[in-house]
Amino acid sequence: MKILVINAGSSSLKYQLFDMDNETVLAKGLCERIGIDGHLKHTPLVEGKSVFNEEIPMPTHAEAIAAVMDKLTSSEYGVVSSMHEIGAVGHRIVHGGEYFSSSVVITDEVLKLIEACSPFAPLHNPAHITGIKACMEVLGKDVPEVAVFDTSFHQTMPPKAFIYAIPYEYYTEDKVRRYGFHGTSHRYVSARAMDMMGRHDDDLKLITCHMGNGSSICAVKGGKSIDTSMGFTPLVGLPMGTRCGQMDMGAVQYIMHKHNLNIDEMLEILNKKSGVLGVSGVSSDFRDLEAAMAEGNKRAELALDLFHYWVAKTIGGYVAAMNGVDGIVFTAGVGENSAETRKAVCEYLGYLGCAIDDEANSLHGTERFISTPDSRVKLMVVPTNEELVIARDTKALVG
Ligand code: ADP
Repeated sequence: MKILVINAGSSSLKYQLFDMDNETVLAKGLCERIGIDGHLKHTPLVEGKSVFNEEIPMPTHAEAIAAVMDKLTSSEYGVVSSMHEIGAVGHRIVHGGEYFSSSVVITDEVLKLIEACSPFAPLHNPAHITGIKACMEVLGKDVPEVAVFDTSFHQTMPPKAFIYAIPYEYYTEDKVRRYGFHGTSHRYVSARAMDMMGRHDDDLKLITCHMGNGSSICAVKGGKSIDTSMGFTPLVGLPMGTRCGQMDMGAVQYIMHKHNLNIDEMLEILNKKSGVLGVSGVSSDFRDLEAAMAEGNKRAELALDLFHYWVAKTIGGYVAAMNGVDGIVFTAGVGENSAETRKAVCEYLGYLGCAIDDEANSLHGTERFISTPDSRVKLMVVPTNEELVIARDTKALVG
């Protein structure tokens, strides 16, 4: 069965076509500048086919999907002979609110509920809905579509982890609570870690660290999320590439008054100009920060120190929440690639009996243990694969 995985943004659309008989990616690509002019980069991953990288008019997402279909089926760039080979479509959806604790086949009712969550993710959910409708238009309603939510893995959190200490009516009436994000990634890497450790029991305590441009940490007990660092929005928790993480509202109010900023201007700063970029003044990219620090840049060093410190103290909080930890997993751009970050974080964790193996830590790209044999806690690197989870869920629901 061939499954198309779609991640639709407001002016972009990423896709991967999977052959689920052997879980391989046949082609992937990115449509950009939808609604402006339009550009498609399509990369077939089978031999003898060429990359397409050109402008194509895309007034709406429907033209973008049509262009993707055209390339997927063309003789020069294509990997399938006709659109009818595509058995189903899986969509990444950022917010499923409290409605969805697992992936679902998209129906009119599901679409309405995704729409009902739009106020919680105003930049993402409306774009996802546009992407779903564009697929229905181009592929027809007979091709089943599945929604896979970033929030659903965290729906197992207990109230003490998701309720904010504000008047309770803001939860009951307005649904303001911690939702958590990156759930598909935390689910995938925790499941892989359970396989690697050969343990699938309810007592297994894992902490998964998704560290990329956006970063979040999750406490996973017996395969279920019991706490996570992002909240009602992906702004909080750890300091990130450009996001502030944990912040004092009183300080926010003080800055707004002092600099005459309205709330939208302030949030723009907290979302896009803060984090390690804001502290360092250098970059949001950890490679740039590590290079700047090596050249003696003190603010780059401070930004990295602060990031490692927050990762370590969030891990500490989750060890307390679970009364122990058996394994710690590192994933995403920074977690998978930065040996320095993993080493710096683990240096805080000696009290837990974490011992990192420098040689295994210095390797690149592969799923592996990076702890020494006598480390009390297993340390692991697991490259994340959210698209594969979406394809698997889609196959399981429609297959
Ligand atoms: P996103 O959150 O957008 O999905 P990724 O998970 O792809 O992001 O992570 C991107 C980040 O990974 C980059 O901003 C960069 O900071 C970091 N990164 C990638 N490779 C390395 C590396 N070799 N060393 C340190 N950081 C890296």
